[in-house]
Amino acid sequence: MTRRILSIALDTPLDTEFDYRWAGSAADEAEPQCGQFALVPFGRREAVGLIVAVKDDTDVDSGRLRDVIAVRRQLAPVQPDWIALCRFAADYYQRPLGEVVLPCVPKNLRTNTTVALERALKKLAQARPAAMPADAVSQRPTLNEEQQAAVDAIIAGTGFQAHLLFGVTGSGKTEVYLNAAECLLEREREAGRPAQVLILVPEINLTPQLETSVRGRFPQLQVVTLHSQLAEGERLRNWIAAHHGQAQIVLGTRLAVLASLPALKMIIVDEEHDPSYKQQEGLRYSARDLAVWRAHQQRVPVVLGSATPSVESWLHAGSGRYRKLALTQRAAAAAQLPRVGLIDMEVNKAPDGISPPLVAALRERLARGEQSLLFLNRRGYAPVLHCDACGWISNCRRCTAFMVLHKPERRLRCHHCSLELRVPVSCPTCGNVDLQPLGRGTQRVEECLHGLFPDARVLRIDADSTRRKGSAQAAFDSVHRGEVDILLGTQMVAKGHDFQRLTLVGVLNPDTALFSQDYRAGERLFAQLMQVAGRAGRAGGAMRSDVLIQTRYPQHPLYRALMAHDYAGFAESTLAERRAAGLPPFIHQALLRAEAKTLQAALDFLASARELVSHEGVTLNEPVPMTITRVAGVERAQLLLESPSRPRLQAFLRQWMHALRATKSRLRWSLEVDPVDI
Ligand SMILES: [Zn+2]
Ligand SMILES: [Zn+2]
Repeated sequence: MTRRILSIALDTPLDTEFDYRWAGSAADEAEPQCGQFALVPFGRREAVGLIVAVKDDTDVDSGRLRDVIAVRRQLAPVQPDWIALCRFAADYYQRPLGEVVLPCVPKNLRTNTTVALERALKKLAQARPAAMPADAVSQRPTLNEEQQAAVDAIIAGTGFQAHLLFGVTGSGKTEVYLNAAECLLEREREAGRPAQVLILVPEINLTPQLETSVRGRFPQLQVVTLHSQLAEGERLRNWIAAHHGQAQIVLGTRLAVLASLPALKMIIVDEEHDPSYKQQEGLRYSARDLAVWRAHQQRVPVVLGSATPSVESWLHAGSGRYRKLALTQRAAAAAQLPRVGLIDMEVNKAPDGISPPLVAALRERLARGEQSLLFLNRRGYAPVLHCDACGWISNCRRCTAFMVLHKPERRLRCHHCSLELRVPVSCPTCGNVDLQPLGRGTQRVEECLHGLFPDARVLRIDADSTRRKGSAQAAFDSVHRGEVDILLGTQMVAKGHDFQRLTLVGVLNPDTALFSQDYRAGERLFAQLMQVAGRAGRAGGAMRSDVLIQTRYPQHPLYRALMAHDYAGFAESTLAERRAAGLPPFIHQALLRAEAKTLQAALDFLASARELVSHEGVTLNEPVPMTITRVAGVERAQLLLESPSRPRLQAFLRQWMHALRATKSRLRWSLEVDPVDI
């Protein structure tokens, strides 16, 4: 009987791996292997972990060494490359390995029983790839010269290369992705090698549309999706299909970047600039950055596509680290970029939020039977409810934030802690019954549109109108079927969707982002406006499209660049400003956050953390309260770290985290590397 020691990564905050004894039970049972999952006793419970080493001895005394309960042999072991990817993410983002490995595999794989696993494997074994009906196989558009050149460049090389596919909205980036994937999969098939392509999209709402294109294009291949809204059973099956190499194309949101893909040959990151690629809790990783690392590790190409790349990627393309592939023309013949115009709100008063020139433009589209889109990135009816008599204002009692008026639901809602109250009939302080909504959200604009155009079919799409599963898809479908004259929405409507009959985009109230203290706000606004503008005029033909932006700052350089469709100019000037101000990507940052019952406790914790380890070459700023200091009754503060050298920052963080964990402080704290919201 062999006895071996297994080193196992478990999902706990303790930054270590745990040794267990394996006593081979049956003679014919193979030895456990590195990369298999195993069920072990942990404290008073049982937990599933990943075997990361098999060895002969351990420092744990034999009296305390516990036995492995079961090894999940049904599943092929994950490959060393995948463990190396998780280890890199763990080191870079300063988390224990187990906190990276376990949360990124489906929940059903982490349970004590193998019932779900057995069921998934059985279903997968029975499944035959469904044959696509012939008419569902999509027509293959002919690529224009730029698209063809991009495809050629992507598949030409061998080994790692990062490509920045910089293409104006409507330039047919998806066709480039699909053609490159097709060429590559075909080449590997001819060579008799297994191959997988990973395609990342920023939002779940965008997966059905792309999934349809991909399935239509590759009817003979197995395509699976991976995102957080899949039912657990399906998620496990899809994960295993990817892990066992059966799925050749894996399409997913940010979490898919950590899927086990043994035959990965290419990664595509669509809308690479999108903030959704950043995970904001647990392991706070950037899926875009991990995709580039993973492609480098696997020595395969990665394609980062965007009409408005992040300035980080733009910088890398400029320095030659990434190869820039430009698509300057819209793919549909004669489809012109929309004309961007500004409506000066100092001149055009708009008591209802929609200025006379915009009303006139909407009326024109209605008369011609064309569609319009109004973009306002603020849901609810009004951001604040206010009493003119005594000055009462609808503050959330648990957060440093206002409660937002939701009129159709007759609720005040806090968007930070989800507290809900009935709308008071009179002022809680002075009894005044005439409470006034201040400002404007999508519900209020919807009401106004009904007043202005009683016969128009108006549809609002935001997080409130699409709470039910599938309702967002249904709403977008009705726009596509032409059942909507005026579409109104938040950033949900800005991304990805092609509306064929849309010829007018109106942007309400984008100015606040110009004066945000977040240095990335301008970059985000530009990307968002460019993206929403890109919804218009995609079909081509005679329909002329306009984008009208209501602003009080028509001379602002951001709007000027937008009018000229000059992303390059905007990116260059943004980079010049960042360089001068010593901001990322010219400096590297990390952020330590603390949460406590009192603000002072949070600040004190950060102040003492600051003194723990010497920090040559790394600047530790003063601890400060977060912008929204209190959320759900918890006070929050943060400490920003900066260094011109990434290795130096990383080396410091490693020591510092070690020291911080050793303090065993009971206060909640978290570290974010390369933070995006500061
Ligand atoms: Zn009052
Ligand atoms: Zn709140």
